This record gives sequence, C-alpha cells and structure tokens, in this order.
Amino acid sequence: MTSPENGQTRRAEPREHFDAVVVGAGFAGLYMLHRLRDTLGLHCRVYEAGDDVGGTWYWNRYPGARCDSESLYYTFSDRMSKELLQEWNWTERYAGQPEILRYIKHVAETFDLYKDIRFSTRVVDATYDEERNRWLVTADDGHVVTAAFLITAVGCLSAASVPEFKGRQDFLGSQFHTGLWPHEGVDFTSKRVAVIGTGSTGVQLIPEIAQHAAHVYVMQRTPNYCIPSRNAPLAAEVVREVKAKVSSIWELMRSTSFGHPIDFPDRSALSVTEEERRDIYEAAWSKGGIPLAFTFNDLVISREANETAAEFVRAKIRELVRDPHVAELLSPRDHPIFTRRVPLENGYYETFNRENVTLVDLRSSPIEEITAAGIRTGEAEYEVDIIVYATGFDAVTGSLFKLGIHGRDGISLQEHWREGPRTYLGVATRGFPNLFMITGPQSPSVLSNMVVSIEQHVDWITDCLRHMRESGVDVVEPLPDAEMHWVTHHNEIANATLVPTTNSWWVGSNVPGKLRRIYPYLGGVGNYRAVCEQVAARDYDGFHMSVHDAAAVARGA
Ligand code: FAD
Ligand code: NAP
Repeated sequence: MTSPENGQTRRAEPREHFDAVVVGAGFAGLYMLHRLRDTLGLHCRVYEAGDDVGGTWYWNRYPGARCDSESLYYTFSDRMSKELLQEWNWTERYAGQPEILRYIKHVAETFDLYKDIRFSTRVVDATYDEERNRWLVTADDGHVVTAAFLITAVGCLSAASVPEFKGRQDFLGSQFHTGLWPHEGVDFTSKRVAVIGTGSTGVQLIPEIAQHAAHVYVMQRTPNYCIPSRNAPLAAEVVREVKAKVSSIWELMRSTSFGHPIDFPDRSALSVTEEERRDIYEAAWSKGGIPLAFTFNDLVISREANETAAEFVRAKIRELVRDPHVAELLSPRDHPIFTRRVPLENGYYETFNRENVTLVDLRSSPIEEITAAGIRTGEAEYEVDIIVYATGFDAVTGSLFKLGIHGRDGISLQEHWREGPRTYLGVATRGFPNLFMITGPQSPSVLSNMVVSIEQHVDWITDCLRHMRESGVDVVEPLPDAEMHWVTHHNEIANATLVPTTNSWWVGSNVPGKLRRIYPYLGGVGNYRAVCEQVAARDYDGFHMSVHDAAAVARGA
C-alpha cells in the first residue's frame, strides 16, 4: 500500500519568512493562495504532501470516482474568475475524477499558482512562537519556515482510515486504500477481489470492479440508502442556461441549506396523502441525485416522516435486486435515511444480480482476520488476490491533528480539543492566534457543496486579514465566550435533528477511540454565512484583535 506519510522530523533553523503559510493544495488551498497573493499581495507558501495539486481528486483515483454534487455547481464561482466559469465546460452531470483533476490543474496553471507550492512535502509540526508572534512550520524533510498566519486547507476527508485488522501484513496479494490509490491504476482483470466498505466510495467502486474481476466479495457492515445519480452527458443547452444565470444561481447556492441550488419546501412529509407522497418521491427518484433529500422539510427531524422516505428506498432496492435475501441485507434498518451520507449510485444495486458478485454480511459475521490468502470472517475464509479498503477517513479532525499544531504555551490542538472540537465559527480556535482553518469542525464543510463552503471561508479569511491590516493589528484570536457560545449553538442545532443517533463519520464513530461529537455544522450554509457576515460587519465581534507586544509577552503579561 502506498502512503504519503514518511520520514522523521528533523527541525532546522527557519530559512524563510512568509506572510502566510497554507497547508494543502486542493480546492481550498488553491483559492486561498490566489486570494492572499492576488487580493492582498501577500508573500505565501503552500505545502502539499502530494506531488501535484488536486487534493481529494489527486488521491482518490479508484475506478468509478466522481463527484456527486453536480459538476456545474461543484466548481469555482465567479469570485475566483468570471472568465474561468464561462470558459470551462464540464462534460457530464457528475464529472469523473480525471476530469475534475484536469480542471484543478487548469486553475493552478491559469492563475500561476504552481510557483508558490512546495509539493511532496508534509507539514508535521506548526508551533506558535508567542514572543515573536510567528508560526514556526516544520516539514517532514526538516525544512522550517516562519509565517505570520497559518491557514489549514488540509481537507475534511484526506486522512485515510484503514482498520487495524489482525494479520493485515500477512496478506500475500495486493491491498489498497481508495484514498491512496496508485497512480498507475490497478488491473482487476480476472482477479478475485474483496472490497471492505459500502459507503459512497464502495458504492462507486464496486460496479466498476465487478465488470472486470473474476469475483467480487462485497464486505458490508452497514447498508446505506443509495440514490441513483442518473449521470449523463451534459446537454449544451443546460450548460448555456446555467452560464447565462451564473450570478443568480450562485447567490441562491450561497443562501440555501447545503450550498446547492435547491432547498427544502415548506411542507412536511406527513402533511400529504400517501399517494401524493409516493408521487413526490417517484418524481425525485427519477430525476436522480439530491432532490429526494429536498422533498420535505422534516425528514431529518421527525422519525415518522423519515420512515416514509426510508421505506420508499427499501422498496426500490427490492425492485432492483433479484434475490430477496440479498435485497434485505442491502436495506438499512438500523438508521434513518439522510442521517449519514447518502451515496449516489450508478448501477450499484443491479451489480448484486451478477453471478460474480457476493454480498458478505459482516453484521452477522465480522472480519476476524486477514490471512495470507484473503479474509476470514466468523463464517468462512474468502480467498482473494486483491483487497480494497473502501473504509473511509478519519474525517474533519484527522488531518488537522496530524499537522502537529501547538498554540500559546505549547498547548497542542488535541489538548485544547480533548473534550471535542472547540471553535469559533469553525474557522478559528482560542489559544491559537493567527490560525485559520478552512472548513474546520463546527462549520458546514462536509454538509454542503464543499466548493461553496470553501469559497465562503476563504473570502471571509481574506476580508479578516485585510481588516487587520487596515486596523494596524497583527494578532487575532477568538474570545473564550464567543467560542463557548458557538460550541453550544452548534450542539443545540445538531441535537434537534436525528443525525446524532446514527453511527457515521459525521459523528466520528467510524474511527475506534475517536470522540463521538457532531463534527460538521448543521445550521445550514445560508444561515452560517449570515452569522459570519454579521461577525465581520461588527468589527469581528467575538475575536480579540491586538498589536503584538513582545515586551509584554516577555514579562508574562
Ligand atoms: P482536499 O481536497 O482534501 O485537499 C487537502 C490537501 O491537503 C490534500 O492534497 C493533502 O495531501 C494536503 N495535506 C493534508 N495534510 C497535509 C500536511 N500535513 N502537509 C501537507 N499537505 C497536507 N464534496 C462535495 O461537495 N461534492 C462532492 O461531490 C464530493 N465528492 C467527493 C468524493 C470523494 C471520493 C471524496 C473523498 C470527497 C468528496 N467530496 C465532495 C469532499 C471533498 O473532499 C471536497 O469537495 C474538496 O475536494 C475538499 O477540498 P480541500 O481543498 O478542502 O481538501
Ligand atoms: P465511509 O462513508 O466512512 O464508508 C466506509 C465504509 O467502510 C463503511 O461501509 C464502513 O462500515 C466500512 N468500514 C469501516 N471500518 C470497517 C471495519 N472495521 N469493518 C468493516 N467495515 C468497515 O467512507 P467513504 O465511502 O470513503 O466515504 C467518505 C465520504 O467521502 C463520503 O461520505 C462522502 O462525503 C465522500 N465521498 C463522496 C463521493 C462522491 O460520490 N462524490 C465518493 C466517495 C466519497 P460502517 O458503515 O459500518 O462503519
């Protein structure tokens, strides 16, 4: 298995000083670099562990990888560039990974971003030096620089999680995690393959592998409710229409609950007759994609309402999968629909009608060990040539913690968050001055069309830095009360939904030992934006801004 992590830390003397260091060169890092450099004229350095730009779309090259936000909207807006938005033509409703990566590289080239990115370099330590009001940033090759501001763009889904199965190192075949996929690809032709995991990744991957492999064993612990994507080439007319209405569409996306150009109707699932409800679900199902989630406004609030949508999808599974026993195993019964990420599927259920695909139910018989020949569950040993771990990520906080962030008095981010993340607006945290986190915990992040949320954070951070410059201050940090209120508000909103009741990476339950907390903010993209704008309009209410006073720090004042 390839791994981007390597080496020991050797700290040398800082070689260079930057106004800002950004970590990560995915959508977030690239847009941040562009704004810092081109809007504020700052001297910046981006560090990226991969050897090229792309982030998610650089690492996740597994067969079938594609976005499930519609390409037309999963793209930089006119805030990045009006011309780019008009020039670039997506070919499919949901672009595949190669096309998205091509787009991101095109952005980096167009805006001359490559020159300020240091690739194949992983940041392993970032420590705030209070005396000098500087971040000391150390990379895995021992290279050290200082920066006035540290901005994390490390991604919410970038720390691959491979369960510690006994005997994993004994397997004699090949094994891969989907988020660390080999660039040269994997040949599945005539191979026996086990795929562990049936989240969004497994659901995309399995139908693709099944077309080539001799046999695929799908190792499922929790079934998901999957919705057809109805992916198709984009009609020129649709593209033209969207391009003609760019301003109004993006204005809408910035105001909706999830950053898509669609929102909840003012209608409960229990306010219509059974027949009307079925027609509404059918219409959404035939459109494919997210409209099913937006049929009624109480699907993640009321269990009774939720069950109507859940049962609608289970009935679809029974129609699509020929073997009733397999259909039942694929039907979620243990959690309400939409309380964990709903995968979009492209022929997933039909794949289970193939002779060369076997569904292995890990609920009744969990994996006991990986053997030299394959995988042993409580019931049987499955001999395979390849194991694919579609087992997800240590989401949201995983990559942040791996940065080795230490704030005032050497306190680590892990220590400050030992009871769970504590942030103000999900963008900053007390005791870590001049640190900004793009799509940090307690911001909408993964519960949104992420490019919309990334742009909002980047724009907000840019405005905040400009405000500091204009005000003549050089230290910014959330006030304790502001942080406390945000955490309370975040939890109250989440607890008013059904989401906390379900196991998923949204609550951290996928990683053994991780604190069970609601990691993304559930208050909605539009509402969240309004709060952030209000904070800015009130001179960054809730933040303490000051002029660094080295003498006072030395006196311990
Ligand atoms: P990333 O793209 O994750 O980039 C972070 C970068 O930081 C990585 O390249 C990583 O190598 C680098 N990095 C991390 N730590 C360090 C370090 N210590 N030192 C140096 N570099 C470091 N979201 C949607 O809204 N719609 C979708 O359809 C969608 N599809 C997805 C499909 C997949 C397979 C996955 C995994 C996620 C998907 N997402 C989707 C979420 C996706 O992660 C975001 O949309 C977006 O790409 C995140 O961009 P980012 O720049 O914030 O982070
Ligand atoms: P995931 O949703 O966390 O799914 C991981 C899968 O691995 C789950 O089925 C999980 O089972 C299983 N698993 C984990 N540990 C296991 C163990 N010890 N034994 C058996 N099974 C185990 O991860 P993902 O599928 O990579 O998706 C993560 C997120 O990335 C998505 O939710 C989405 O936000 C994003 N993504 C988006 C797309 C897209 O369509 N655009 C594609 C891929 C990913 P349990 O459910 O029982 O824990």
